[in-house]
Amino acid sequence: METELLNIESVSSKQKAAALRKAGEIIREGGLVAFPTETVYGLGADALNAEAAAKIYAAKGRPSDNPLIVHIHDISQVYEIAEEVPDEAKAVMEKFWPGPLTIILNKKSCVPDGTTGGLHTVAIRMPSHPIARDFIRESGRMIAAPSANTSGRPSPTLASHVYEDMQGRIPLILDGGAVGIGIESTIIDMSTGIPTILRPGYITKDMLEEVLPEVKIDPAVSGRTMKKDIVAKAPGMKYRHYAPKGQLTLVEGDKDKVIAKINELVREKKEEGYKVGVIGTDETLDAYHADILRSIGSRQKPESVAANLYRILREFDDLECDYMYSESFFEQGLGNAIMNRMLKAAGYHLITLQEGLVWIIARLL
Ligand code: AMP
Ligand code: MG
Repeated sequence: METELLNIESVSSKQKAAALRKAGEIIREGGLVAFPTETVYGLGADALNAEAAAKIYAAKGRPSDNPLIVHIHDISQVYEIAEEVPDEAKAVMEKFWPGPLTIILNKKSCVPDGTTGGLHTVAIRMPSHPIARDFIRESGRMIAAPSANTSGRPSPTLASHVYEDMQGRIPLILDGGAVGIGIESTIIDMSTGIPTILRPGYITKDMLEEVLPEVKIDPAVSGRTMKKDIVAKAPGMKYRHYAPKGQLTLVEGDKDKVIAKINELVREKKEEGYKVGVIGTDETLDAYHADILRSIGSRQKPESVAANLYRILREFDDLECDYMYSESFFEQGLGNAIMNRMLKAAGYHLITLQEGLVWIIARLL
């Protein structure tokens, strides 16, 4: 299959309308279209057409028990697919939609098992990206979409990432440029009991607590070790998201000690003849010596770290790095989501250096 990559960002409104029309036709015929959202690129299909949803699993090589998120463009669509919508869920939708938050609710029978991985719940999100909204509206369907990467690779934050993974597998990619946030949506389960975060993202626990009396975090996604005996409630969280060709190790502790430790580890691996990379920050990159150096962003701007993370992991893959060492981030606010993704990418390889006072105080703040 030929894969068409259509620029939809810097084109005339006529060209944009034509691209959206084409995308809508493909969806209505049961095909797949990759499209930008504010979090990462999604791989979309008609959510209520089980055969169309099955094509997503085939194109991605995704395990069939890993359900898809249904994307809508208007809150009224929630009532077409969700059985009960608690008042708390309504409050959360009003506050955070459109935006990077996915809500799990009990599903109606019109949502096929093929979309929900056989679960009786459905994950719903209303994205804020204008192209995503236009695309969903134009298709006249609700759009089931996971991230548009091959299973096991970092989520795509550029249309070129989608092309790398999906070339020859899908008919159309809508190129809307770089996404804004760069990591996947926060997932909150509101189908039962106390609302529980199943995946951390841009919308943090603190933000959710502005409208909810209590929010829990699924024990499977908190913390810094692999939890073998706890079953993740979001089936996708049990899979190692990214299996780099090389081994990524995170190092945490006081800044100067981290720099010294990473440089020491790099020296050792280089002496053994390996290709070694370092992920530093704008504040520290100059202090490192390695074959490949990348700044993941500024510590002053955690949003920049989230936005660059997956692109940098892909770059290290392309450069066939054997070992990669990265600084760590405080698990506060957006830092929770960043560390959650980085720890998964590292297979939970984390070196904690003896903690100095500055580090301890910073962690407590
Ligand atoms: P992706 O869009 O690739 O980030 O994957 C969607 C994520 O949503 C996966 O981690 C799924 O396990 C999770 N998810 C989708 N539907 C549900 C559901 N009904 N209950 C729990 N998690 C879900
Ligand atoms: Mg994904």
